[in-house]
Amino acid sequence: MDTLRITNARLVFPGVGIRPGSLAVRDGQITAVGELDAVPAQAEETVDAEGALVTPGLVDVHTHGIERYRYDAGPEELHAAAGRLGAYGCTCALPTLIGRREEAFLTFAGQMAAALPTVAGVSMPGLHIEGPFVARTGAGCETVPADAVFVRELLAATVGRTRVMSLSPEVSGILPVIELLVAEGVVPFITHTGASLAETQRALDAGARHATHFYDVFYAPPETDLGVRPVGCVEAVLADTRATVDFICDGVHVEPTAIRMALLCKGWEGVVMITDSNIGAGLPAGEYDTPWGLRIRVAPETGARILPPHHFAGALAGSALTSNRGMANLHAWFGRDYPAEQLWALGTRNPARLAGLPNKGVLQVGADADLVLWGEGFVPAATWVGGCRVCG
Ligand SMILES: [Zn+2]
Repeated sequence: MDTLRITNARLVFPGVGIRPGSLAVRDGQITAVGELDAVPAQAEETVDAEGALVTPGLVDVHTHGIERYRYDAGPEELHAAAGRLGAYGCTCALPTLIGRREEAFLTFAGQMAAALPTVAGVSMPGLHIEGPFVARTGAGCETVPADAVFVRELLAATVGRTRVMSLSPEVSGILPVIELLVAEGVVPFITHTGASLAETQRALDAGARHATHFYDVFYAPPETDLGVRPVGCVEAVLADTRATVDFICDGVHVEPTAIRMALLCKGWEGVVMITDSNIGAGLPAGEYDTPWGLRIRVAPETGARILPPHHFAGALAGSALTSNRGMANLHAWFGRDYPAEQLWALGTRNPARLAGLPNKGVLQVGADADLVLWGEGFVPAATWVGGCRVCG
């Protein structure tokens, strides 16, 4: 018998359409989806959605933590964070670690990779390693030359669970590293860069096909020749039909007009929502201490910002965005111009495809039963991961 049956829902098929219907779940997978008579009448638990939206769970390919917890602090906080993500509609996340080229990091990344299959409340199919081969600092990233030997050691230490590595096109020796990552099934993301047009194009040719927290920390070349507009990494990525992009959809890191520009260049299939969330995300507006020894003010309108007397007072301290709020923002900004099922794809189907997870981000027979029943204001009324209810 099926374990779960959701009836009377408005089912969101990302990128395809929204239709009234029901679905059934067994052994962690969707076993039936569609008209009510296509779904078995019996299940251990039946939920009447009362006409509310049911979507695939949100997938976040770039996130450093949530509320009080950050993944760089180790497996204990990883477990604590995992238990909180369902409340924000996130059912699948790639915990993002700041990469360091040192022996201790290999040990640490190995411990984190080993912990992934044991987390409860969310699916964590792999790690995202941000750095160390990035050209511009930010988020604590190192800037060191690329090193394929180190990458091989990292992939071995993380037993195949490194799924994404973020890097910069202009770092010396990066092209063989990009080719190695692609050959090993790891997705290279371009970021923290001031690469030239040619450097970015070479990275794209080598197999880097995605830019993360696009525009943020993507530095434009200076205007040195009056009247001549310089072009660089941003234009190289926007103009290349092979490349996709993601955004921190908090309305603070990126002005929505810039996201609209990317939607026009890439189409809805080529744009992904991320949170890049960190300490503070999901917490009520207010002031908080951080593990970095500075105090931040968190508010949805301004993000997380450093408080005085720190010499960077006023600056952003990571992102305080949650997945459900990002989705609410996308609907508010673009709901008039794009069908809702396409906007949902930015947080479901698109990141799942980007991360090589074809069984996530879709409502179809055989897909993972990672589901969200949505209440008012983009707040989940219930969230299931692998068919198990994790909140609501
Ligand atoms: Zn990041």
